[in-house]
Amino acid sequence: FANNGEGNDDISGESPLLRGMIFAANIGSPGDLPLVEKFKAQGIGLYRTEFLFMGEELPSEEEQLEAYRQVVAACSPHLTVIRTLDIGGDKKAPALHLPQEKNPFLGVRALRLTLRRPELFRQQLRAIWRASAAGPTAIMFPMIATIEELERAKENLWAAREEVLQAGYEIGELQVGMMIEIPSAAWLADKFAPKVDFFSIGTNDLTQYMLAVDRENPELAELNQPYHPSVLAMIARVSQAALQNGIWTGICGEAGGDPLLAPFFKAVGIKELSMAPGSLAKVRTALAKLEQSKEEQERLVSSVLDCASTAEVVNTLQAYKAI
Ligand code: PEP
Ligand code: MG
Repeated sequence: FANNGEGNDDISGESPLLRGMIFAANIGSPGDLPLVEKFKAQGIGLYRTEFLFMGEELPSEEEQLEAYRQVVAACSPHLTVIRTLDIGGDKKAPALHLPQEKNPFLGVRALRLTLRRPELFRQQLRAIWRASAAGPTAIMFPMIATIEELERAKENLWAAREEVLQAGYEIGELQVGMMIEIPSAAWLADKFAPKVDFFSIGTNDLTQYMLAVDRENPELAELNQPYHPSVLAMIARVSQAALQNGIWTGICGEAGGDPLLAPFFKAVGIKELSMAPGSLAKVRTALAKLEQSKEEQERLVSSVLDCASTAEVVNTLQAYKAI
């Protein structure tokens, strides 16, 4: 996408640690690219690849390559973060013929599935490596709960790289990241950080799993709030662990597109907010209006983390916005 004229935007796939806040887009297929351009995203912070797997037949490696390459090339020189398959829970793939589960959100979902289906996983990993030749690319693994899962995912990633090189294909560099969306991984962020290049916080699932609230149940919508102080404290903890280890953290759940939360995220050191393209303008505006001094940022963080309830957090954020 063209340089959007906001200065400081002529650099690209390099680490967001070295830049100001990056405003990126979430997409589900190359069909979303026109929106990414229209709203001038500075990259793609979450490319959900499930869409390719929702049909009657599974996509081939070449079909996957085509879809990923198209996105990476269009987004270059900005970074495209491709997420490996997150089937299960709310996302179905009929061609995989998965057994019914009693608790799909707590079941064989995402990386838990791909680690059990190595050929399916390797095929996607090979396609992502090959797409990385087209521009700055990152890969991230969803639904990691344990260090062993991350290690096994990375073993597959390096094996897929060998396969691609053996076959004589060109590849680029790949930043390797993980989603933080399960409380066990969030709590141990300092242990995960040395093993990845970045974290991307999935606030939809992190909220669901921290508050034990089904993200799809409208009856519980009031409880399903990323404003809950426990969720925000966890996010602050994750960002802190990342900074201490010299890696960057993004937010790619719905909360990343919430202008009320943006000053808090910036204050805790989040480097990238990735959101539905239609939210980019309002989040940019919310932060542009704000000249936060270090002291103000620290005050905001401590007053939010001092709250006991969602309602108190919302009041605090609203009062801050009104200043
Ligand atoms: C999330 O959980 O916040 C996230 C971005 O992933 P998804 O909504 O696709 O589960
Ligand atoms: Mg998720």
